[in-house]
Amino acid sequence: MPTMNFKGPAGQEDMPYLLTPGPLTTSRSVKQALLADWGSRDIEFRKLVKEIREELKRLAGCDDSYECVLMQGSGTFAIEAALGAFAPSKRKKTLVVANGAYGERAAQILTHIGRANEKVSKSDTTQLAPEHFTKLLDDDKSISHVWLIHCETTSGIVNPLSELARETKTRGRVFMVDAMSSFGALDINMARDGIDVMVSSSNKCVEGIPGFSYVLVKKELLLASEGQSHSIVLDLFQQWKGLEANGQFRFTPPTHALVAFRQALRELDEEGGTAARLRRYKRNADTLLKGMAQIGIQPLLSANAAGPIIQTFLTPADANFKFEDFYEKLRQRGFAIYPGKLTKRDSFRIGTIGALDEQVIERVVTAIKDVLAELNVKDMSPRDK
Ligand SMILES: *Cc1c(COP(=O)(O)O)cnc(C)c1O
Repeated sequence: MPTMNFKGPAGQEDMPYLLTPGPLTTSRSVKQALLADWGSRDIEFRKLVKEIREELKRLAGCDDSYECVLMQGSGTFAIEAALGAFAPSKRKKTLVVANGAYGERAAQILTHIGRANEKVSKSDTTQLAPEHFTKLLDDDKSISHVWLIHCETTSGIVNPLSELARETKTRGRVFMVDAMSSFGALDINMARDGIDVMVSSSNKCVEGIPGFSYVLVKKELLLASEGQSHSIVLDLFQQWKGLEANGQFRFTPPTHALVAFRQALRELDEEGGTAARLRRYKRNADTLLKGMAQIGIQPLLSANAAGPIIQTFLTPADANFKFEDFYEKLRQRGFAIYPGKLTKRDSFRIGTIGALDEQVIERVVTAIKDVLAELNVKDMSPRDK
């Protein structure tokens, strides 16, 4: 391990804060919850699984007409499970609203598993206009399902979830959302907005550790999905049946990740719920944007499109700026950031979620100033104007 000249987060003082949207920095108490081995068949563990499923439904604004299915693996596993369960295969198709890599990947999964789909692609910085969206639905009756990415973590852009969900429902179609990087902080209420399917994972805004993902879904859709899956392990209906029958996973559960997640759920509640968490993330993002503006580094997105989850910055033009050096020097000061993921523009990203507050972000800004000075980076204007 490199010599670290900083103090990291509580519980891992000799390692950096993760300014990445999953895995992210967790609290010391979430990490401490990992210090026990749980038997997957034991009554305490099955009770814990049940509690998690109930609490997720409550947080997502579900009424009794919804079910919660937990799935081993990272977020993409639940995405593929949900698409395999609900996306139609013949005659009807799924409209994927894409403005970043996660939209592209959903379309790729659909195609790979033989489900008809159409992609409406916008640039990484553009939200689909609701009028454009409703026209697509009105003009093409073969679109029976919609897949939206709530917060596109590629850039951090937040798409108009409630509005598109309501327009979809008034037109009698099925609305599905990848709320991976937004659930737990941004306002999501499935029953209120008529969202049929929502997917998220353990290691984003709930601030747990990686290991599992989950699908919240209208029970009638879940029941109708029996036999639809393209996969044995990702069969959502069978996974649900197993959980309902005896409270157990069909295959080895990520016991530690689940125990840590229940602790993370308690801490979300203690913080004041999703509204309080959103306020903290907004303070983090505002502090970061203000600091970067002072330095002169430009954000990719305008303030009204950028959410509080992750910020994308345009790489400075200065030839002395090399991302790998910048990254490594920041890491030695205690902060791990994220490379850019845009196809068109040279950029890097800094996540503002996880167990961190604006004081930590202020230290990030100071560290960035120091590193830029050390690297002799002066021209902060974007490299690709
Ligand atoms: C993190 C994330 C995913 C899932 O990615 P994994 O690497 O499988 O965890 C999917 N969609 C969005 C928007 C995400 O932020």
